[in-house]
Amino acid sequence: MSNSQDKTPAGRTSPWELAVGPEPKHWDDWVEYDAEAWPERKENHYRCIPTICFNCESGCGLLAFVDKSSGDIAKFEGNPLHPGSRGRLCAKGPATINQVNDTERILKPLKRKGPRGGGEWEEVSWEEAVADIGKRIGKALREERHDEIMYHVGRPGEDHFAMRMLQAWGVDAHNSHTNVCSASARLGYSLSFGADRPSPDYANAKFILLISAHLETGHYFNPHAQRIIEAKNGGARIAVVDTRLSNTSTHADRWISPWPGSEAAMLLSVARLLLTSGRVDKEFMERWTNWQDYLTAKDPGGPQTLDRYLELLAEEYVKYTPAYAMAECQIEEGTVEYLADRISEAGSEFTSHLWRSTAAGNLGGWQVARALLLLHSLTGSVGTKGGLNPNSWDKFVPKPSLAPPPHSRWNERLWPKEWPLAHYEMSFLLPHLLFLVIVQNLVQIVELLLLHVGEQKSRVHNQRQEHIV
Ligand code: SF4
Repeated sequence: MSNSQDKTPAGRTSPWELAVGPEPKHWDDWVEYDAEAWPERKENHYRCIPTICFNCESGCGLLAFVDKSSGDIAKFEGNPLHPGSRGRLCAKGPATINQVNDTERILKPLKRKGPRGGGEWEEVSWEEAVADIGKRIGKALREERHDEIMYHVGRPGEDHFAMRMLQAWGVDAHNSHTNVCSASARLGYSLSFGADRPSPDYANAKFILLISAHLETGHYFNPHAQRIIEAKNGGARIAVVDTRLSNTSTHADRWISPWPGSEAAMLLSVARLLLTSGRVDKEFMERWTNWQDYLTAKDPGGPQTLDRYLELLAEEYVKYTPAYAMAECQIEEGTVEYLADRISEAGSEFTSHLWRSTAAGNLGGWQVARALLLLHSLTGSVGTKGGLNPNSWDKFVPKPSLAPPPHSRWNERLWPKEWPLAHYEMSFLLPHLLFLVIVQNLVQIVELLLLHVGEQKSRVHNQRQEHIV
């Protein structure tokens, strides 16, 4: 590959930074030699068009290299101007080309023909598909069957449009995977600091604690992983709490594998140790926690001071000794002390992330987020460089100025009455609830049939009686 405008930096054999794609000044006419024409130096000219990878939710910046002679996309590389991914991608980013060229890609809507499950499909036009689906939805709305409309999305990849549309229809129908993934952690974060997700400043952190948050192999991973590794190269320590030795764990200074569901006990033990050893950011606690309210409720006759509050807080967690955590969580001796030391050393530059299995996979898992935020409160590592922010501080989501009025219907298939405090729609129950609806309908049909048969019998009986008389 070549580009005559660039100069080769000293010590490099390539004329540009290989880690990222070309700079914008080359995007109108990027030149590369055709590898297949070698040894001939045949130039291919490309136009680089910025786009986004959506093979995961990170939305890293891509550059589509469009062949100027054919108009075809030849490949995808990272967009160096993208603020999150900064030109770097995981292997799935460049593999986006498969989605363009895949010969088995479905390009037109397919409509089932024959019985459900029969595997028979026919191609229809977009117009036909939209008209057909729209007609069914319209009919359900006109017949007041709002609960029969359901919108399921695996990973919501946009802000507002789908919700706005459902609101306009007046249906409560948004169903996603959130409740089996992040809902519990979100609840804990929301209750403690008002935003349902953390925004950790990994790049500037001195200690990073990841609890079932696989930021080097999963969630948001490329942009986060870059910054975690940056911090690590700068001397930050990393601890990963996970039942399994994940890829992320292999990059950590310490892998901690507690008994699943016991993580909150470990974190509270760390909190107790910080409190009893006086390693607390009193200034932060004084300003940002409601310690006066706590004292009024718990110890109205005692001294109304921060020290008294911290003393009572330590008493609150008195049972959470390192020995207790060892037994409860089945962790190695010294783990609680290790975490307390690293967290207090990092102070306001302690950051963390909790997501998925620890919170979502265990009863009461949402409390793990709250126990984790307690550690951040004790160390004053909220809203600091290298600390933890509420995500709403770092993410701007513009909302449309005009929105339809909120819908007035409650869909019990998403929000069953039995779980009045559910924080997200309970999609894992949906198949069971739909099954129940089918069973209820069948029971009704059978009852109607029996009623009908009974009526027929009694009519025949009455006719016979009349005949005998
Ligand atoms: S992390 Fe990988 S898959 Fe996800 S958006 Fe970035 S390049 Fe695509």
